[in-house]
Amino acid sequence: MTKLYSFPIVELHLHLYGAIRFETLLDLSRKRGLPMGNATTVAELKDLLVTDTPKNLAAVLRAFEIFLPVVKDDFEAIERVAYELCEDQAKEGVIYFEGRYSPHRLLNDDSPHTAREVVEAVTRGLRRGKADFGVDSRQILVMICGLPQYNWELLELVETCQELGVVGIDVAGSAKGADEKYEDSVVEVFQAAYKKGLHRTAHAGEAGGAREVVNALNEMHAERIGHGYRILRDEAAYRNHFLEERRAHLEACPYSSVMTGAVPPEWTEHPVRRWAEDGADFSISRDDPTCFDNSIESEMELAHTNIGLTIHQLWQAQLNAAKASFAEEPLKSEVIAKVKATEPAK
Ligand SMILES: [Zn+2]
Repeated sequence: MTKLYSFPIVELHLHLYGAIRFETLLDLSRKRGLPMGNATTVAELKDLLVTDTPKNLAAVLRAFEIFLPVVKDDFEAIERVAYELCEDQAKEGVIYFEGRYSPHRLLNDDSPHTAREVVEAVTRGLRRGKADFGVDSRQILVMICGLPQYNWELLELVETCQELGVVGIDVAGSAKGADEKYEDSVVEVFQAAYKKGLHRTAHAGEAGGAREVVNALNEMHAERIGHGYRILRDEAAYRNHFLEERRAHLEACPYSSVMTGAVPPEWTEHPVRRWAEDGADFSISRDDPTCFDNSIESEMELAHTNIGLTIHQLWQAQLNAAKASFAEEPLKSEVIAKVKATEPAK
């Protein structure tokens, strides 16, 4: 089958350690003597990790507890994962992506290492990836709901690691399952990031409701919302924040959205369709390919064939992503120009 599209891809919502090759996990598991269940083949590992029927976010996030130990505290492994991601992205037609992660979740509790060393290892991998495969990338550091002890250190890392390619801060729920009722310190860190002029995106409206999206915008000054689907439960808030005044950017992950139970499994009713029809500012990403076994091509196919977006709307999502990216100049303008040059017929 020929590919649906011929324009370059910009991916904003991708969890770095949710985008590890299955082969690499098996290899690291063997090398370190850390088993992942009884899985010894890719097929068995996929059986263990991949969600392919609609569940809830907490169920999807459980996979991380199974495979994260094989990368934790191993800087060679962390660098390798970042490097291989660039190779995979190049094959998918991605020209720019933002990889997000919690550096603290890549360290064991008794680790002798620092979160900054994690960021440095990721940076080495991404820089080698850029050199070998030509893919540009930047990093977003993520606070984890339930691990508030790291929040202020994370803000400091975002501020001090800009020369390493860190461009923003995020918050996601996973330490205690899925939760968007973020701790006070999360809100305070976002407010501090806003005052310091650091870029901000927040997971909201995925496991929580419209109120959490509005809080992320109003209280936390988020510029982008990770997921945000459930803003549609409050029509007035949706119109106000996404069509009229501020027009915040929505990072949609279509396949993930149904697998996590964030939206019902009725593709033609999917929020992305409404957003496209309304001309809202949204992009399309994969979230966690290690948990969903999805590709850029499968997301585009889904958005086109099942959800009903036109090829031009798929392209528009790439342009939206380029414009909403946290990349610095001149990179940002270069990415925008590359996408603009490939506009398909309407
Ligand atoms: Zn996410």
